[in-house]
Amino acid sequence: MAESYPDISPLKAGLACACPRCGRGRVFDGFLSVVDHCPHCGLALRENDSGDGPAIFLIFILGFSGVPLAFWIDSAFDVPAWMPGLVAGIFVIALALLLLRPAKACVLALQYRHRRDDFETGG
Ligand SMILES: [Zn+2]
Repeated sequence: MAESYPDISPLKAGLACACPRCGRGRVFDGFLSVVDHCPHCGLALRENDSGDGPAIFLIFILGFSGVPLAFWIDSAFDVPAWMPGLVAGIFVIALALLLLRPAKACVLALQYRHRRDDFETGG
């Protein structure tokens, strides 16, 4: 029995941390552990886990935005020398915690969109 599923944008599925095939099931079981199968449609998710790839993207994006932020704070405000590093560090850590789950779900959804055979053959 072949079910048809709506075409879901990888960005939309990623931001909702939802299954890339049905858009209803959740992708995560804990903070970053991917469920074995989608609880709604049964798509094998864990065996196609993107691993640390999304973290590498975030390291580059947040690293390249956090350092200029520290320099800007240091030059624009009359603050102690440790203050720019503290503010930029908090900024980077907060955004990393906020963006890691959606980034991981987005990469999983992109894998589903562009390498669907890996999901349907059982990985
Ligand atoms: Zn699903």
